[in-house]
Amino acid sequence: MDPTLTDELLSIQETARRFSAERIAPGYMKREALGHVERDLIREIGELGLIAPEIPEEYGGYGLPSLASGLIAEAIGHADPNVAYLQILGSLNAKIVASHAAPAIAREWLPRLISGKSVFALGLTEPRGGSDAANLVLSARRDGNRYILKGEKSSISMADQADALVVFARTGPLEAKARGVTAFFVPRDTPGVTMQRYKDIGTTAVGRCSIFFDDVVVPEEYRLADEGMGFVQVMQGFDFSRALIGLQVVGAAQASLDETWAYINERNAFGAPISVNQGVTFPLAEAETMLAATRQLCYHTLRLKDAGLPHTSEAAMCKWLGPKTAVDVIHQCLLTHGHYGYSLDLPHQQRLRDVMGLEIGDGTAQIMKMIIARQRGASRGR
Ligand SMILES: Cc1cc2nc3c(=O)[nH]c(=O)nc-3n(C[C@H](O)[C@H](O)[C@H](O)COP(=O)(O)OP(=O)(O)OC[C@H]3O[C@@H](n4cnc5c(N)ncnc54)[C@H](O)[C@@H]3O)c2cc1C
Repeated sequence: MDPTLTDELLSIQETARRFSAERIAPGYMKREALGHVERDLIREIGELGLIAPEIPEEYGGYGLPSLASGLIAEAIGHADPNVAYLQILGSLNAKIVASHAAPAIAREWLPRLISGKSVFALGLTEPRGGSDAANLVLSARRDGNRYILKGEKSSISMADQADALVVFARTGPLEAKARGVTAFFVPRDTPGVTMQRYKDIGTTAVGRCSIFFDDVVVPEEYRLADEGMGFVQVMQGFDFSRALIGLQVVGAAQASLDETWAYINERNAFGAPISVNQGVTFPLAEAETMLAATRQLCYHTLRLKDAGLPHTSEAAMCKWLGPKTAVDVIHQCLLTHGHYGYSLDLPHQQRLRDVMGLEIGDGTAQIMKMIIARQRGASRGR
């Protein structure tokens, strides 16, 4: 219970928690075999107002504080961290489209995204590398009042379930680095767009794909922001998604921890519940502490955002500390369940595989620490 949350935020948190427990959590392990998130479920989540509620009402949103999306990502992450990709990708892409798309495109597509009728994916990473994202090579060649996209994106979450893609492409010379990158909105059924799914160790309900752009024609109106502004303006949204990812994985780790506190009172060894041993409870108490600290860092970051204050450094902290803490906590929970924990029948192994992906996705811990160091004035070198 957070005494600083307004009644409005408490109400949306309660809705998200109730719906997650009743409708999302029971399908968590089944969704891994299914390989996608059910479209009916996505629509229900949208109809409840749980996708990008911070977007203004003119685009189908509710104009709520960003913290609302954080509370939702945490509640849904507790039930199924893969379904919570809808919040992360939804808020990230909705902000980009609301801020940078032509009004007609934003008015056509955003209500669909927010109501759960459409899913958007975001294509930044390429085969040659994701950390040095400004060096991307997928080309967008201007041809009159349209652009021709050619090249490949790799490792794109939810691509084969998406109805539209936000794609970063090169419109300027490679030497221009970030200043030669432009973002585009590309409906998924545009001719020339094809995909191939990866075989991953987790997050199968989300899925990652390579996306191939084979002379894909995109009208000029589908450009997001001005030419060359892909990084300078459009990428700003990543500070938001990083805090949301922190909460998505805190939710997942808290689920394993809640189950583990219950288990240690039921399991006996040496004639007593294993919970009588400080060797069992202290690691869980440490886990509780780390999750509480990480959660508050994420809330703080979103409050800075809602107050219009700088939060780039704090967002990078959420993004490396959240997934690392979640992996450590879930691993400890798995071990505390003894031989049962090692079984595919319990969810800890799946949560571990699922949250581990977020130690890489949206930028690794090294890249987040580089951002924090730069914010403190460290030299960029060459
Ligand atoms: C589950 C998952 C979901 C993803 N979803 C998306 C998505 O939806 N859209 C999208 O565009 N991308 C997505 N990605 C891709 C992700 O953003 C990239 O994998 C990530 O940015 C790292 O890029 P890379 O894999 O090319 O690694 P590289 O850039 O090749 O880096 C390899 C290793 O070197 C380290 N490294 C690189 N440079 C430095 C440096 N200067 N200092 C210290 N260490 C360094 C990195 O930290 C990493 O450990 C996803 C990835 C995963 C795993």
